[in-house]
Amino acid sequence: MPELPEVETVARDLARLVAGQRVVSARVLRERNIATPDAPTFISAIAGRAIRGVRRRAKWIIVDLEGGVALLVHLRMTGQLLVLPASAPLDPYVRAALLLDDGRELRFRDVRAFGRLALVACGDDGIPASSLDPSDVPLLADHGPEPLEPSFTADLLGALLARRPGRLKGTLLDQRCIAGLGNIYADEALWRAHLHPLAAGATLRRDEVERLHAAIVGVLSEAVEARGSSIDDYTGPDGDGTMQERLAVYQRQGEPCLACGATIRRFVVGGRATHICPTCQPLPRGGRRAGGELPRGAASGDRSDTRRGGRWSERVHPATVGATVAERAAARRRAVRSGGADPVGVRR
Ligand SMILES: [Zn+2]
Repeated sequence: MPELPEVETVARDLARLVAGQRVVSARVLRERNIATPDAPTFISAIAGRAIRGVRRRAKWIIVDLEGGVALLVHLRMTGQLLVLPASAPLDPYVRAALLLDDGRELRFRDVRAFGRLALVACGDDGIPASSLDPSDVPLLADHGPEPLEPSFTADLLGALLARRPGRLKGTLLDQRCIAGLGNIYADEALWRAHLHPLAAGATLRRDEVERLHAAIVGVLSEAVEARGSSIDDYTGPDGDGTMQERLAVYQRQGEPCLACGATIRRFVVGGRATHICPTCQPLPRGGRRAGGELPRGAASGDRSDTRRGGRWSERVHPATVGATVAERAAARRRAVRSGGADPVGVRR
């Protein structure tokens, strides 16, 4: 799933590619991808508006349009924004398309179709706070601070962690705590900070909070520089990212730790694959570990039977990197039951 660096890359690419263009007309090919307003209103309200700029807030892309209106796009699992000549063939996964006045189209392509588009009114401060439909809950409410803003300090991180009793990994993934952090960069930041994902965030010492703060800011900045990690369907309008080649733990289970040589482990926390170096990130003891059952593979003595597959993916597929033998077998059985085809969206 695209995280802050990937969404930031899409927003920057789009700003370069479409700012100054005017939306001539819109097509909605799958109405359920439009969160608000209804599709006919979306189509009529966006037509004729010039694109002022493109920016990011949390994992939302904000396309500022003239007249105090913004198009918000959430890529979710597999969403892509592509800028192509309008004459380019339309593949079946394009869910919406905006025709621009220079003859190109801004297309929203989404294989799994969980992504969302919304046309909203912006306040005087430029914040897309109110929907065109007053009955809608504002989409950008309830997000935590932006970790690459100067206002995100170690003190602020410490205060956010102190209020949350749970496991560090879950806290980092909570968008109400920090905006834009997801599974890839949470695992990478914890490895850089030498912290275990099951540590109780509220018990971190001052030096640990400072290490975690530096790790979050460092890994996200590097990833923005590298145009994000092209894993699964993620690509920017101007092409793939390269951060996937520089990840230290994410989907590297079974390989040696870049710092100490110990074998990287994978286990599941709160339904999310989690990757650690058992030596660099020792399991905390007693009250410094958040409660709940200890996942298999989380302690340094556990055996790891995971092996890498053939490609980068977060999904479980017979060839998925990081899936265990049992997970790949289950994915194969599911694929056979659903008609024998490979799960959609897997690039070769
Ligand atoms: Zn290590």
